[in-house]
Amino acid sequence: MTQHDVIVLGAGVIGGFIAWNLAQQGAAVAVADPAGPAARPSASWASAGGLRSQGRHDADRPVTLRASELWATMSDRLGAELEISFGGHLHLAETEDQVPDIEARIAADSSKNIAIERLNGRQIAEIAPILAPGMAAGAFTPGDGQAHPGRVAEALSRALGELGVERHFGQLASLVTEGERVVGVDIKGGPALRAPVTVVACGAWSAKLIEPLGLQLPVRARGLQMVLSDIDSAGRLAPTVTAVGRNLSLKQVRSGAYMLGGRWFGRPTGRGLETEPLDAHVAAQWAGAAALLPRLSRHRIAHAWAGTEAQSIDGNPFIGRHGPPGLYLAFGFSNHGFQISPAIGELIAGDITGDRDEPLLAPFSPARPGPGPAAVSTFQNESILQTA
Ligand SMILES: Cc1cc2nc3c(=O)[nH]c(=O)nc-3n(C[C@H](O)[C@H](O)[C@H](O)COP(=O)(O)OP(=O)(O)OC[C@H]3O[C@@H](n4cnc5c(N)ncnc54)[C@H](O)[C@@H]3O)c2cc1C
Repeated sequence: MTQHDVIVLGAGVIGGFIAWNLAQQGAAVAVADPAGPAARPSASWASAGGLRSQGRHDADRPVTLRASELWATMSDRLGAELEISFGGHLHLAETEDQVPDIEARIAADSSKNIAIERLNGRQIAEIAPILAPGMAAGAFTPGDGQAHPGRVAEALSRALGELGVERHFGQLASLVTEGERVVGVDIKGGPALRAPVTVVACGAWSAKLIEPLGLQLPVRARGLQMVLSDIDSAGRLAPTVTAVGRNLSLKQVRSGAYMLGGRWFGRPTGRGLETEPLDAHVAAQWAGAAALLPRLSRHRIAHAWAGTEAQSIDGNPFIGRHGPPGLYLAFGFSNHGFQISPAIGELIAGDITGDRDEPLLAPFSPARPGPGPAAVSTFQNESILQTA
């Protein structure tokens, strides 16, 4: 049996940043993950890596601001090439009737100190000349950008090793209770880990893990698919682009390929929570992107994949002590957890060690008022193939 201060279950970006912050504070930490950092089909493996501060939930805005500061130096701090770039995020109105949506987003964000600008069609063409001409308006956050989530999760794992954190990857890990308390984790074929606090940061796998403890939260597994084009060595698209009324995110990654996301659901493969891309959704993603980026029609699809995220009923994560003593939850980050992950790790580490009061986490309490059993049941039973 090995004794620790904190055990973190899950080595995605959320578990990774929590463990890294705890270890930097001198806590004795162990991390366990049956797959390892950023393994298929986890969300951190599949993620588009967009660092978007605009258009977020009210509760998220102070966290997103802190995360933006942290991303600025993350490659240096982790000593790794994380493919971070800050080309901004551009949310487009293609037509005049969509401009009020842009104005509402700018008003809401700027009232909470997000650095966001309104662009006209000419300014959009200056920032992103390869987009289709004639855009009506845009909301631009110049400090936003992108990073490579898989590289971030792997760099975190490496940094944990350097800090002496015990890592148990590749074996099943299960929660252990004694009386009313969660006392740690048993690793199949490995050691018994014990600690006063065990963090469940297992993304889409978290709900099943806590079910035997009699805990149920309104969260479901959802497969989201991504598409990558072949390389465009001539074009340059600096910002990540989204648009009012389009289910799409579009960016050019370090290799020169275009990466297409949005809320397009994959098809379950029958292997656990894994999904695979649906051809019809790939075609719709491609068509939507080509409408904004005409040169895409001269390119081909190089690759498509789908990964599984934990989607909560209100889009906000569940964070905090909940249920039996000794248990701490950190999951349900829906489709926007990557950007805030460094700040979430910092805040949760502070919350667990008690060094700081963390009011920024209060809105994410697992005990927050919910929408009622009927809405929860509808949410959890909806098909994950729905495209809305
Ligand atoms: C396709 C896609 C695109 C996205 N794009 C963006 C984006 O552009 N910007 C953004 O901000 N966010 C984005 N997101 C969301 C973001 O990627 C997620 O919110 C974030 O990666 C969640 O990280 P996580 O560590 O909570 O979960 P995960 O990365 O899913 O990690 C959970 C880990 O738990 C492990 N696990 C499972 N069972 C156990 C167990 N019993 N014990 C221990 N470990 C276990 C798994 O193996 C896995 O490694 C996207 C998500 C998807 C799916």
